[in-house]
Amino acid sequence: MSDVTLGTRPRDIYDLTIIGGGPAGLFAAFYAGFREMRTKIIESMPELGGQLVTLYPEKCVYDVAGQPGILARDLAKQLIEQAMRFTPAVCLEEQVQSVERVEGDIIRLGTSRGEHYTRAVLICAGVGSFSPNRLPARNAGKFEGRGVYYFVREKSALKDKRLLIVGGGDSAMDWVLNLRDVAQSITLIHRRDAFRAHESSVRKVLDTGIPIYMWTELKEVLGDDKVEGAVIGNSQTKEERTIAVDAILGNIGFKAELGPLKEWPVSYVGRDIRVDGRMATSFPGMFAAGDVALPDGAVKLSLISIGFAQAAVAVCSAKVYVDPTSKLFPGHSSEKLG
Ligand code: FAD
Repeated sequence: MSDVTLGTRPRDIYDLTIIGGGPAGLFAAFYAGFREMRTKIIESMPELGGQLVTLYPEKCVYDVAGQPGILARDLAKQLIEQAMRFTPAVCLEEQVQSVERVEGDIIRLGTSRGEHYTRAVLICAGVGSFSPNRLPARNAGKFEGRGVYYFVREKSALKDKRLLIVGGGDSAMDWVLNLRDVAQSITLIHRRDAFRAHESSVRKVLDTGIPIYMWTELKEVLGDDKVEGAVIGNSQTKEERTIAVDAILGNIGFKAELGPLKEWPVSYVGRDIRVDGRMATSFPGMFAAGDVALPDGAVKLSLISIGFAQAAVAVCSAKVYVDPTSKLFPGHSSEKLG
C-alpha cells in the first residue's frame, strides 16, 4: 500500500500513472498490472478508447495482429476488458495539465480536477486530449451542461425530453437510434445535404420517421432558466424556424490539442515527445508510448500495433525505474497468468 505522508498531508502514491486511455494507454495498463504495479489511468474524455472510439468507432481495423478485421469500437471494448484485468484506477473527464517532481522520486500531476501522485508516469496522450466542437449558436454556452450537451452520461437524463440532435456523422446517428425509445421526440438537423455516417445507420435513422432538416444549423437556444426551444436556419433558403425542445445534443466532431503538454519538461522533436530505446523521456521517471512518442533513430508510424509494442517496453522500463531490483523482462504471460 502506498499511502505515505508527503509534506503535511497524506497522499496516495501510485507506481505508474498513465496519461491517456487510448490503445497504447490501455495496453500499458494491462501490462503494468501484469508487472504488479499499482496503476492509474487518467483520461480527458468521458470514455476510454482514444481515437478508436472518438474518431472512427464504426470503421473496421485490419492491421492489428491476430485480428483479421475488427470494428474500432469492438477493439476498444476488448482492450478495455484486457486493461481492467488488474483493476487499475481510472479517472475520466480529467485532463492532466502539469507535471513536477515534488519530493525524492515522487511526481505530482496537476489536472483539471485536482492532483495525483506517482512514482512513474507513462504519457500515452496520442494526438492530444480530445474535446467536443462546441455549437456556435447564441446561448449554447449559457445552457451547456443544463440542456445543451455534448456527451450523454445517463440516458435517463433525456427521458421524455423533446430532443434536438445536431450533426450528421456516426455519433449523431448512434444517438438518434439509442435515444429514440427514451426521448419523447427527436429532431435531427445537419448542416450539409448528406450524412457522413455508416450507410446502415443512416438507413435505420431514416426509417424512424423523425423530423430531419438538411442544410440546417442551430442559430439560437431559447429559454430563461432552462432550454425551451431552438431557432434553426436553412443555409440555402435562409429560412429560420423555431422548434420547441427541452434538450440539445451537439455531435459535430472533436478537436485534439496537445495543449499544456507542450510546456512539460520533456524534449520534443517537432510535436512528438523524444524517447530513448527504453521509451524514457528526458524527465527521469517519465516514459512515453504510442502516437505521441518518437524513439531516437526510429521512423514515425502512427499505428495501433506500434503503440502496443512501445507500451510494453515503456512499462517494463518504468517497472525497473520504480523497483531497480526487478527484471526488465517479466517472462511470458502464458506462463505467469492463467
Ligand atoms: P490515442 O488513441 O490518440 O489516445 C490518446 C488518449 O489520450 C485520448 O483518449 C486523449 O483524450 C487522451 N489524452 C491526451 N492528452 C491528455 C491529457 N493531457 N490528459 C488526459 N488525457 C489525455 N491505426 C491502425 O493501426 N490501423 C488503422 O486501421 C487505423 N485507422 C485509423 C483511422 C482513422 C480515421 C484515424 C484518425 C486513425 C487511425 N489509426 C489506425 C491510427 C490509430 O488510431 C492511432 O495510431 C492510435 O489511436 C494511437 O493510440 P494512442 O493510444 O497512442 O493515442
